[in-house]
Amino acid sequence: MKVRESKDPQAPRIVIVGGGLSGLTVAYRLRERLPQARLTVLESQPRVGGNIGTQYVDGFRLETGPNGFLDNKPSTVQLCHDLGLSDRLIAASEGSRKNRFVFVDQRLQRLPGSPIELLRSPLLSWSGKLAFLLEPLRHGRRSNREESVAEFATRRAGREAANVFADALVTGIQGGDPQLLSLPANFPRLVELERRYGSIVRGVLASAKAKRRLAQARGETPAGPPKMWSFREGLGVLIDALREQLGAAIVCGAKVRQLDRDASGWQVLGEGRDRWSADVVVLTQPAYEQAEALDSLDSELADELRSIPYNAIVVVGIGYRQTDVPLNLDGFGFIAPQRTRRDILGVQWCSSIFPDRAPSGLVLWRVLCGGWHRGEMVHWDAERLLVAVRQELQQMMGVTAEPVFHRIIRWPRAIPQYFVGHLARLQRIEARVSAEHPGLFLAGNAYRGIAMNDCTEQGQLLAERIVHGLQSPDKPATRAW
Ligand SMILES: Cc1cc2nc3c(=O)[nH]c(=O)nc-3n(C[C@H](O)[C@H](O)[C@H](O)COP(=O)(O)OP(=O)(O)OC[C@H]3O[C@@H](n4cnc5c(N)ncnc54)[C@H](O)[C@@H]3O)c2cc1C
Repeated sequence: MKVRESKDPQAPRIVIVGGGLSGLTVAYRLRERLPQARLTVLESQPRVGGNIGTQYVDGFRLETGPNGFLDNKPSTVQLCHDLGLSDRLIAASEGSRKNRFVFVDQRLQRLPGSPIELLRSPLLSWSGKLAFLLEPLRHGRRSNREESVAEFATRRAGREAANVFADALVTGIQGGDPQLLSLPANFPRLVELERRYGSIVRGVLASAKAKRRLAQARGETPAGPPKMWSFREGLGVLIDALREQLGAAIVCGAKVRQLDRDASGWQVLGEGRDRWSADVVVLTQPAYEQAEALDSLDSELADELRSIPYNAIVVVGIGYRQTDVPLNLDGFGFIAPQRTRRDILGVQWCSSIFPDRAPSGLVLWRVLCGGWHRGEMVHWDAERLLVAVRQELQQMMGVTAEPVFHRIIRWPRAIPQYFVGHLARLQRIEARVSAEHPGLFLAGNAYRGIAMNDCTEQGQLLAERIVHGLQSPDKPATRAW
């Protein structure tokens, strides 16, 4: 049931800029907690959803951005539940959970799922395997210097394992470079596991045991490793449900260009003469767009936001006849680690992961190109991209046939990169917003996590903080996130 907005002139006016998952979650959670608030979501595009969207073309169901979300945090599953979507959720196939590959040494190799499989795997030499297996015996961290993902992985598991596994991990998640990405900003759980248990392996085993015990004590079946989820009709279902709930609060085609403050509160300026007054403003558009909006108000803050880098990604959705594919596709797909500088970062075998992604007898894959070191590919024309992708698919998967379908989606500024120094920058931003701009909140995937789960978790926390701030007049809501 939709909650109608109050017409009470005393009700707080809240403007949320950006209708991606972050903005829609903040808005939805605020609606739940503060139904009397006068809420507006301003979105520059004709549709909400930001990176998230499902296209249905020629019987293929293609995700434009994320392919699914994990249940390693409860926030997105909970959001789906609250929206009445639980029955429509589907888990990724069993095979896609077990079989993940990397393209290393000119061939596809299965990523080991256990220490025994690691011992049998040709991915590491014997000395590399030994270095990896000694991880539980290594000392904990002695310095407080912020480490890169590569430094951390090398220190804990040896250089070979870092080159293969850490690189594959960040190629698959961030499309980034492990030498540049900050460990604590991108993987705070690994920092916490090392701090608490002195070892990642010991930490993972101990937390799995604790979870099993808790489940047994509650009489529940212990949950296995995290699963990926989506909907039969694609992730667009989640966005449609949020849009439906927020109804007239959403204004599409409203590009915010500037923020001002006067005696009556915040003024949010759009193109032409569009203007919205607000007591609270939440910016959730990408950081470089937040910078543009804040530039005339606080150029130092804008410079900080502008310096959060983004990579570029091209998603090439490509369909083949099943009979033209020489491989068994019972798996998630594969990563080509970014240090190999191939023309593709990896391939997701979408129709093997979720049902109904391709018409009968056909398969659908998403080939991801670009990333931090190959960002120029976003400017390649369609023909050049397709030739490069087909050459790579031929070398890596032995596919020589003509595709029956293709569609190219370009993300010139796709995923924010939390490089070493990111957390210090967040502290400076937060201090400045708190001190100078009461009622302003900065949110979105540029700050504390890029996964859908991070956006829904941070969105919910922020909504709670705003409610708390509005309900305690002596404690104005002044935090950046
Ligand atoms: C190719 C790709 C694959 C991904 N895969 C996964 C995955 O498999 N799993 C996962 O969990 N996550 C994945 N992610 C990450 C996840 O999708 C994003 O982090 C998340 O959707 C970001 O949501 P957001 O609302 O913070 O930002 P966005 O989605 O960027 O939304 C920001 C919104 O602000 C709007 N906007 C911009 N400027 C203005 C302005 N001036 N005025 C008004 N509105 C404005 C934009 O149009 C947009 O709608 C992927 C991302 C990409 C790009």
